[in-house]
Amino acid sequence: MDRYAVIGNPIGHSKSPQIHRMFGEQTGQPIAYEALLAPLDDFAGTLREFLAEGLGVNVTVPFKEQAWALVDQHTPAAERAGAVNTIQRLDDGRLLGDNTDGKGLVRDIQHNAGLALAGLKVLLVGAGGAARGVIQPLLAAGPSQLCIVNRTVSKAEELAALFADQGPISAAGFQWIEEPVDLIINATSASLAGDLPDISPNLIRPGHTWCYDMMYASEATAFNRWAAEQGAARCLDGLGMLVEQAAEAFLLWRGVRPDTAPVLKALR
Ligand code: NDP
Repeated sequence: MDRYAVIGNPIGHSKSPQIHRMFGEQTGQPIAYEALLAPLDDFAGTLREFLAEGLGVNVTVPFKEQAWALVDQHTPAAERAGAVNTIQRLDDGRLLGDNTDGKGLVRDIQHNAGLALAGLKVLLVGAGGAARGVIQPLLAAGPSQLCIVNRTVSKAEELAALFADQGPISAAGFQWIEEPVDLIINATSASLAGDLPDISPNLIRPGHTWCYDMMYASEATAFNRWAAEQGAARCLDGLGMLVEQAAEAFLLWRGVRPDTAPVLKALR
């Protein structure tokens, strides 16, 4: 069996082993996939030890930036994102770092949910690691405008400057924007604590605006409950993104893209 793993801290909650096992069974690929808890001060040691035999890893919170610094080369997506969530050990032993989070998000929105991003006004809420990782793939999908809003405005401005050559991107503070948009993506960690980013309800045009919370939970997230109360046309959570980013990692490692629909159905 070819060995793969997800490394994080904490890691007990990770659905990645379940997802990749289902991918392996479905495609007939002989893979074993485990979850590894790395000490907070020794991600590099855990990675090195596993990759002495293992062929690839997924990286999750809080090690994605460290992973970026440790690999030998980056895909263009990872280069811009400044974070790596997928590592492949190449035949010569060198490590290739990719970031599949953004591709996963865009595929979930466009392919699974059926919302074409071309020409849409999109608001990205948050300017942390998750937001940074999805900007380039979002801009590549051709929205008419991608506005980043963040509690700490300077961080949104930094990201808008970093990606300014990739498409129509701007930055603002939470309450600076009042006009309705077509799609709001919540990339803050506020939902983790049951909180809401302090954005205007006027951003949602009832029956028209779609809302997407990158977080997922067994019940609707605080953000999606709020969005539904404002009359959002659709409220989506990040489980589809999780499965799609995993499928992109599987494709990189195995050269086969699994069918994500039955896996997403099984997880729901
Ligand atoms: P970071 O810690 O890097 O960034 C946190 C962001 O949330 C910052 O923009 C911060 O604003 C903002 N924030 C935190 N609390 C609040 C609050 N109470 N009100 C307003 N803004 C707040 O986290 P990540 O970017 O790594 O993760 C963000 C979310 O994305 C998490 O919920 C994570 O689970 C999810 N995620 C989902 C994935 C999936 O596959 N579905 C993949 C990756 C992430 P400020 O800068 O002002 O502090």
